[in-house]
Amino acid sequence: MKIYLKKGREESLLRFHPWVFSGAIAQIVGNPAEGDIVQVFASDGSFLAIGHYQIGSIAVRVLSFDSESLSADFWERRLAEALSVRTACGIAREGVTNCYRLVYGEGDGLPGLIVDYYDGVCVMQAHSVGMFRAKKQICQALQKIYGPTLKAVYDKSSGTAPFKAGLDLVDGYLYRAEGFSDDEQEVLEGGHRFLVNWTEGQKTGFFLDQRENRALVEQFSAGRNVLNLFCYTGGFSIYALGAGAVHVDSVDSSAKAMSMVDKNVALNGFDASRHTSYCADAIAFLRDVPEGKYDLMIVDPPAFAKHRGALSNALRAYQRLNAAAISKVAPGGFVFTFSCSQVVDREAFALAVFSAAAQTGRRVRILDRLLQPADHPVNIYHPEGEYLKGLLLYVE
Ligand code: SAH
Repeated sequence: MKIYLKKGREESLLRFHPWVFSGAIAQIVGNPAEGDIVQVFASDGSFLAIGHYQIGSIAVRVLSFDSESLSADFWERRLAEALSVRTACGIAREGVTNCYRLVYGEGDGLPGLIVDYYDGVCVMQAHSVGMFRAKKQICQALQKIYGPTLKAVYDKSSGTAPFKAGLDLVDGYLYRAEGFSDDEQEVLEGGHRFLVNWTEGQKTGFFLDQRENRALVEQFSAGRNVLNLFCYTGGFSIYALGAGAVHVDSVDSSAKAMSMVDKNVALNGFDASRHTSYCADAIAFLRDVPEGKYDLMIVDPPAFAKHRGALSNALRAYQRLNAAAISKVAPGGFVFTFSCSQVVDREAFALAVFSAAAQTGRRVRILDRLLQPADHPVNIYHPEGEYLKGLLLYVE
């Protein structure tokens, strides 16, 4: 099946941007179903790209700018390359870290695909029908690149693949090594132990994108009273406890997440008296926090804006939340504040935090600007891949 673009609309593909918008299409030859593989041509008939067809404003997500067949070899090459980038970055280290994001969509030349690796277990999420339909090939390629170290491949696309009739959207295992029957297992990150449950947990089970920011929190936590808001399974809390925080309070509205926090505290052998779990709304919790109780706060809320239309409300929400945190932190304290909303860019987030600081009237220094790590790479031709941003603030 072939797609011809309108004259002059080939520019972005020639610059390797991996999407074809429906408005750029002059003609569709054949009758592609959602998720079919289509070839894309310029108006003069020259080949541009091959990709997954989808219905909506993004009509094609490009898999290759070469005229090639999307055979087993293609998937193996792409996944092997993604793995070699992670290896080159030294993310997995024996006895320290055995989990990372293997595939981050467009950033790894595989638009619509996420694969997280948890010590031999790969959890995939398809964000497009094309990737969902390719899951068997993806699974086979994972078996090939990891060999006998692969314990399982779990497909968790039911919440992410665009729901269309004819797709069997039930999460489940695409592969399980003989004798492997668990739905959760322990992983190591930064030398700390974490239980990851990919069937019951949020997203693929663990937020791998905060690894480096957790390590930074670790550097600042010794001797401090720490508040971890929106803690999920307690990633930041465990690093803070490991670094010698006096006490850590962890807050999340999910009861399941909070029970995992308690398990993770125990798993790492920390004295339970140094940690308290609160299953609560973080914003209400913060309202009741006495001024000066905490000298280090982590504020890592879920995405407040999931689309452009929600942007101005989201910015106001970031401002309110950060003003509350900045006003409560002890003098000489630190606030690690984040946004994972893709539509809120770095500048907009910094401006929201600036307004928050101004509102409190306190003196605030920006000590560091934080981002997503190397296993969440941004395709330089697709800046939309950048989503996680944060600031490390020092509050006088
Ligand atoms: N910092 C975490 C990831 C946070 S994800 C980590 O390092 O793993 C965002 C979390 O916010 C989710 O766990 C979700 O359950 C929680 N959440 C969403 N709304 C909330 C609210 N109003 N109050 C408290 N927690 C909330």
